[in-house]
Amino acid sequence: MAPGRPERCTLFAVSLFLQFAEVADALAATTKKLEKRALIATYLQTLPVEDAGRAALWLCGTPFPETDVRVLNVGGSLLSKAILQLSGAGQEALSEAYRRSGDLGAAAADLLYGRAPARGSLTLADVEAALAALAAARGPDAKLRLLLDLLARATPEEAKYLIKLITGDMRTGVKQALVEEAIAEAWSAPVADVRRGDMLLGSLPEVVALAAAGRIGDARMKLFHPLGFMLASPVPSVEEAIARFTEEVAAEREQGAPIVAETALREVQLEDKFDGIRAQLHAAPEPDGRSRVALYSRNREDLSESFPELVEAFSSIAEPAILDGEILAWNPADSRALPFSVLQQRLGRKRVSAEMLREVPVALVVFDILYRGDQLLLTEPLAQRRSVLEDFCSRWCPFTESTLVRAQSDLFNLQQAPSFPRLILASATRLASAAQLADAYLGARSRGNEGVMIKSLGSAYQPGRRGLAWLKLKRELATLDVVVTGVEFGNGRRAQVLSDYTFAVRDTSAENPGAPPTLRNIGKAYSGLTDQEIADLTAFFRAHTLEDYGHFRTVEPLVVLEVAFNNVMRSTRHSSGFALRFPRILRLRTDKPVGEIDTLRRVEEIYASQPDKPVEA
Ligand code: AMP
Repeated sequence: MAPGRPERCTLFAVSLFLQFAEVADALAATTKKLEKRALIATYLQTLPVEDAGRAALWLCGTPFPETDVRVLNVGGSLLSKAILQLSGAGQEALSEAYRRSGDLGAAAADLLYGRAPARGSLTLADVEAALAALAAARGPDAKLRLLLDLLARATPEEAKYLIKLITGDMRTGVKQALVEEAIAEAWSAPVADVRRGDMLLGSLPEVVALAAAGRIGDARMKLFHPLGFMLASPVPSVEEAIARFTEEVAAEREQGAPIVAETALREVQLEDKFDGIRAQLHAAPEPDGRSRVALYSRNREDLSESFPELVEAFSSIAEPAILDGEILAWNPADSRALPFSVLQQRLGRKRVSAEMLREVPVALVVFDILYRGDQLLLTEPLAQRRSVLEDFCSRWCPFTESTLVRAQSDLFNLQQAPSFPRLILASATRLASAAQLADAYLGARSRGNEGVMIKSLGSAYQPGRRGLAWLKLKRELATLDVVVTGVEFGNGRRAQVLSDYTFAVRDTSAENPGAPPTLRNIGKAYSGLTDQEIADLTAFFRAHTLEDYGHFRTVEPLVVLEVAFNNVMRSTRHSSGFALRFPRILRLRTDKPVGEIDTLRRVEEIYASQPDKPVEA
């Protein structure tokens, strides 16, 4: 069928999951976006509204809507167990099938052919009930029983997509944005309204229900599901940052856009770039007078449990709001952030001890406001949002001291814990000259922060977008030339190629003249090379393997890479005594022999140049 408005189709009496699996297969078979969109739109139209909502959600590979806090907690090993039991296959056969496709769902379908039902009977409502039961079940045994019940009723095709849905990896090339477009197409709604509705409601089934009723424009903000975070583009130097804004203004002028301010520079605001954890704060008053509070991370995780003193402190904010900021370990004595390595001790903890609360005090430094009262502020220019934020902070920050920390320190008879407002307004200054930018950068660095953010005052808050309205100028650490010493097979699409590389620097202090270089591992990276480079390297490493441990091999130290990273940390993980934070491969250095790669001494120098000298937790 030609893309565009799909033909009206008859509704199916029962919506089978098999049909969903067939549509998903058809989606995986085409790379054309328009075809995918038309396929989805047509399919959704054939379904009763409730099933269309379920299908729209699952096509994105998400079992539950964003606003729904349930999680399945079903991992690869539980799924593998279920597949082995149902198919009667051995671990070897499963590994082999997995290696072929790099996908557990496809591997299951391979092994289940001839053993699973040939006719589909599962409805979309059945699958929804099974997902709900899986999320509610406690412990692996209970979950395994439910998985077996569900998969035993599925055809191989259905099992494939049930497993993909459970692992959240559909591999159909369908993103949420495309599903939103298909919803708009299916019910003739403006795409912008559907997107806005999805952002506000955080629930595709609710979006489908509104769109199908012709009321998508009625969607209103629902708190307690994270909105996308606006991101910044990097600029390497002060000069380039200024050039970027000058260019932008020139381009706008060429397009005939009115230039509001006299010069480009007056239109931007500078803030320190803090090195903590980006977080979105949601607060809404409850009938008891305290507010419900949640903190969300950039990848939409609920961080609230890890920061109970923040949640408690912010429950005195008696106004609905969404704020954007950075969680930092904080030293109230000098009103500065502590290094990221201090904050790291607070990460990933479900239970936070009284000692942790006292020893690693945290605060949320806020730099943007997205919602206040009943007003969504995303489309307001930054200058306007900033004045709302300043007003908000002057009203509520003073009420955000944590009594939880004080109570706990009394209880355990500990030294009085620091008491200070946990909501802190990030300072911002308007940029008036190039020299000021250079000074601001040095000032931020001397306060222990990473660099500066340069934000266009006229810009709207664009959730999930990395544009030019926000620029980040941060410290440039040197790159390192390293040699690959170990290789591993990757995951998913890269299950058959050696794509993960452990690499080393030279330890010249341990070398003897004329002897081969002494190598010390310092990190592992798997991003930055092209598929072709990885394919070539796979063949090369197969031919130059020293020891083969199955998934991991040590290899002759011949391949030199240039790697970039955010930080050097002290660490016991590698033989060098250091590890790199966020390492990424910049390029292959075929021009450089191993004898000339960077040394441990160079790493020590880089480490010493960092103001915060991080230690891996
Ligand atoms: P990067 O992680 O290098 O891509 O830089 C983007 C990150 O900078 C954001 O996700 C925030 O966590 C962080 N950040 C620190 N300070 C600010 C600020 N003032 N405005 C926006 N983002 C900030």
